[in-house]
Amino acid sequence: MPGVPLLPPGVQVFERGWLSSNNILLTDADSATLVDSGYVTHSAQTLALLSQALGARALDRLVNTHLHSDHCGGNAALQRHYPALETLIPPGMAEDVKAWRGAALSYEPTGQNCPPFQFTGLLQPGSVHRWANTEWQVHAAPGHDPHSVILFEPEHRLLISADALWQNGFGVVFPELEGIAAFDEVADSLDLIEALDPALVIPGHGAPFTGVTEALAFARQKLEAFAQTPEKHGRYGAKVLLKFKLLEYGSVAKPDFKTWALAVPYMQALHERYGQGVDRATWLDMMLAELQRSGALHDDGAVLHDVSN
Ligand SMILES: [Zn+2]
Repeated sequence: MPGVPLLPPGVQVFERGWLSSNNILLTDADSATLVDSGYVTHSAQTLALLSQALGARALDRLVNTHLHSDHCGGNAALQRHYPALETLIPPGMAEDVKAWRGAALSYEPTGQNCPPFQFTGLLQPGSVHRWANTEWQVHAAPGHDPHSVILFEPEHRLLISADALWQNGFGVVFPELEGIAAFDEVADSLDLIEALDPALVIPGHGAPFTGVTEALAFARQKLEAFAQTPEKHGRYGAKVLLKFKLLEYGSVAKPDFKTWALAVPYMQALHERYGQGVDRATWLDMMLAELQRSGALHDDGAVLHDVSN
């Protein structure tokens, strides 16, 4: 059996899949800290996983690597369940969270859901925090999200990489979908990770992995391909948004799904930029057909079914 990489004491990973990001629980005698809270529709499961791990103990602190809905969709539920919860977010979107601007926070443009939450402090790049009896450095890692941070623990060379590095790539480069150059920032963040030299990576999605050199090589190859053919990245971004929503629905009547997709601002912008000269409905059909061909969904003519492996 392939060995599961060994995590240091006090570090637990709840591997959640793609709709919800992984949750990382860091505990020591002083406090219990959770990194990222998953998607809103999985909130009950997040709470159940936590109470199973914590027993009678309360969660003291919640920190977010970034504020995409799959990483902070459970924040509100956790804040309700643990009234004394300290919540730290990266500084970049703090004003938008304070005023709860759903458009700036990406939930409206992506058609995703995230119940409003509050924060009590900031997770400043350059700061160091003592969690799970060890020191965690906060590093800015823009690219996938301009305001994302990653967390590095040098004693065990353990990296919480969010969506800046996965075993097989990295998250969609959202600024690029809006026409804002960010492929260079992805490259810089990969360089930063290489310089940190982690032995073990806990990604935002997927299992913890070693073999960081191979993962970095793969990510750079993928980045190079996207940078050479941004249309490919644009279509990939559209398919990720569609697949994410389908994961949320499970199964959904095709006309309802298309109505949703045609109204989502990001999908409209992507069609304008990468629409290959066809009208929006035709382009959507093309994207859905590509998802069906790649085995990500099943279209029975009336209903679209998510196919998860
Ligand atoms: Zn993300």
